[in-house]
Amino acid sequence: MSVVAMSFVGGMMIATSVPALAITATELEPRASVYAPIDDTISLAPQTVEVASEAETPLLAAEGYAVEAAPPPIFSEVASVGDVSIVETGAVVWPVLNPENRSSGFGPREAPCAGCSTFHDGVDFNPGNGTPVMSIADGVVVLATEDGGGLGVNVEVQHNIGGELITSSYAHMQYGSLAVTVGQQVSAGQQIGLVGTTGQSTGPHLHLEMFGVDGVRFDGFAWLDSHIG
Ligand SMILES: [Zn+2]
Repeated sequence: MSVVAMSFVGGMMIATSVPALAITATELEPRASVYAPIDDTISLAPQTVEVASEAETPLLAAEGYAVEAAPPPIFSEVASVGDVSIVETGAVVWPVLNPENRSSGFGPREAPCAGCSTFHDGVDFNPGNGTPVMSIADGVVVLATEDGGGLGVNVEVQHNIGGELITSSYAHMQYGSLAVTVGQQVSAGQQIGLVGTTGQSTGPHLHLEMFGVDGVRFDGFAWLDSHIG
């Protein structure tokens, strides 16, 4: 009897793991985003197990299956859009090509211009003028403006990284290059704009800021470096 029970549990483990696999697929195509359920979603038939009393049921290696409940999404209030749910993701990518080209790291510095801060609350990437700026992870656009003050053309994306709400902010992009709107779901690596020099900027670069729910900026380069395999 215990063999039958274990087999049934094993079957349930397989069944519950299928939707988890289905929603963790990361696609660059926006329409394939995990946020927009596609029509041909796998539907699971109710599972029935019939075992004759003398039947030998092969044991499944239970340790081969991780049974984890789908993590709850984070709900975030987005101005002019309302509550949006942000699904947990772990896939993180660099926001630009050639991320090794950087001009200014996070932290104290000599102000590069009159009125520039002596504490750099972001990381400056120099992939080249007009090169794509990409979302560092799946998420929801919470700000997309051409009038971001010192930040110039600025996009903010909120992500659910391991259950934690993380915001990435992309500044100084080119006028007319915004590829996203507020409330839009984006995928890791999806283009959101082009590297420019709008706002308080001394040359074409991406100024990337990252912060959690407390709004306190942290070193986005170190964070990305540790999260990108
Ligand atoms: Zn900067």
